[in-house]
Amino acid sequence: MSPNPTIAVVGSGPIGSAYARLLLEEVPDARVVMFEAGPQLTPRPGASVRNIADPDEKSRAREMSQGPQAGAFRESLGLPAGAVVEGMFTARQGTFLLDFGGDGSAHAATFPAVAAATNVGGQGAHWTCATPAPAFSEKVRFIPDAEWDDLIATARRLLHVQDAAFSDSPIGAAIRSLLNDEFGAELPEGYGVGTLPVAGDPQPDGTMVWAGADVVLGPLIEPGSPEAARFELRDLTLVRRIEHEDGAVTGVMVEDLRTRETAFVPADLVVVAADAFRSPQLLWASGIRPAALGRYLTEHHVVISTVALDGDRMSALVGDDQLAAELARRAQHAADPVAAVNRIPFSEPDHPFSLQVMYAENPPFALDPAHPAAGNRWGYVNMGYGVRKLPRVEDGVTFDDDEPDYRGFPNMTIEYALTDAENTEIADATAHLRRAGGALGTFVAEPRLLPNGSSLHYMGTMRMGETDDGTSVADPYSRVWGTENLIVGGNALIPTANTMNPTLMSVAIAVRGARRAAAELAERFAAAAASH
Ligand code: FAD
Repeated sequence: MSPNPTIAVVGSGPIGSAYARLLLEEVPDARVVMFEAGPQLTPRPGASVRNIADPDEKSRAREMSQGPQAGAFRESLGLPAGAVVEGMFTARQGTFLLDFGGDGSAHAATFPAVAAATNVGGQGAHWTCATPAPAFSEKVRFIPDAEWDDLIATARRLLHVQDAAFSDSPIGAAIRSLLNDEFGAELPEGYGVGTLPVAGDPQPDGTMVWAGADVVLGPLIEPGSPEAARFELRDLTLVRRIEHEDGAVTGVMVEDLRTRETAFVPADLVVVAADAFRSPQLLWASGIRPAALGRYLTEHHVVISTVALDGDRMSALVGDDQLAAELARRAQHAADPVAAVNRIPFSEPDHPFSLQVMYAENPPFALDPAHPAAGNRWGYVNMGYGVRKLPRVEDGVTFDDDEPDYRGFPNMTIEYALTDAENTEIADATAHLRRAGGALGTFVAEPRLLPNGSSLHYMGTMRMGETDDGTSVADPYSRVWGTENLIVGGNALIPTANTMNPTLMSVAIAVRGARRAAAELAERFAAAAASH
């Protein structure tokens, strides 16, 4: 045992960053070393690439995050050169498909759009920053309500969540009004049409500086701060194995991807927050294999469409001068125009979906100029209903010790299927989407279900549970059952069926884990000091 607690964090996304921050703030003599397999993209570690104004710089940062699909950057990122065959799906910019089709690709025919990011800040450098909180059965049943509210409040502070972003937009208000006319009477009090909370810092000029892992790290990356002196971030450093003896973790084996050197780094606590597939893969590769590891995979399925806003209905609610002012404001920030984002949250029993409505001046695809809604001066909305997936042991990822993936880890195969329960709710969500579209204008893209894996929100593969009964990987404080000194973090911990963007919820779960871990570390080191 070292004189002061040393904590190794695997992964530099929002969850690893939340652990690093809270543990350093709550254990005053602790040291945190964070390992990130990908490169640092921005001078401020973990900043959102959406804040990069220069389009070339922005696309370079995105390409560098794409691991095996990083094109020209692949070898400089410490990945073997290899022909990559693009499949029929492509990943969102900044991410790569796990089933990318080249050497060492995962197998995910039933979950084809599954994607990840490999860079400082993780997917949190590319995310849309929507930060709703779970409601009703989306919440974790065994965390008491009063504590949960406090965890969510802390997570919101860590992520810089704004409830009323763009609420001054007259177009956003008109969209809410039309949706409220259609759905308002059916929705319970407090769960009606509203603005979508987002993570970022509104600027005086009306723009938004989007939050990434940088805001979660906060003082840890402020030069000269006391926390910064106890924090070290090593990019392009892959954690190959979690070392353990007699059921207790002792540290991590890491590979410097620049030099190819490997080294053992001792640690008193290891936090694995390396996403919902690579975290269980690392545990598996390290011989830590609880029965539920990789099982109970869920996401929320997405039914989307694009609608041209109806001129008559919009002009009855928004004046011409207000539209002109809004367009002028947006034109100033062409690289990432600020847009109104609205929603209808999940509620039970009658609205088991989340609707997200993003206003945009142009559709996200080239619309035939001959289309009657082409060039619509009132703009468009991209709308999506999130539909839940009920957890089943059959859905999940397995790892093959005999087939190395592109990084030399046991390769992944994902098996996943929708059942009648999901198909019924998807049909219901599609009917709701038709109503929402009808209330706002004319469809320019008909409602359609995106392929499995498209949500980018993968949950359940290291789910937390109340007892060690084989259906969970971690205890209610995110500690891996049966292995000491090992915490897991991320969306993979979420045991419930969710329809919403899960990062805020995962940060809240991490706050609970970090508070308990900080108390335990302090106790362990105090006891050790007393016995000397
Ligand atoms: P990640 O952010 O995925 O970070 C994990 C990190 O671990 C990665 O950088 C990876 O390289 C690293 N790693 C993996 N293995 C190793 C290893 N062995 N050694 C060292 N490092 C390793 N969520 C929302 O809630 N709202 C949204 O609006 C939203 N929009 C999104 C839009 C996009 C385009 C994307 C890509 C994601 C979006 N998400 C959104 C998802 C959100 O980004 C994730 O929920 C969040 O980033 C998860 O945080 P994390 O820290 O658990 O994992």
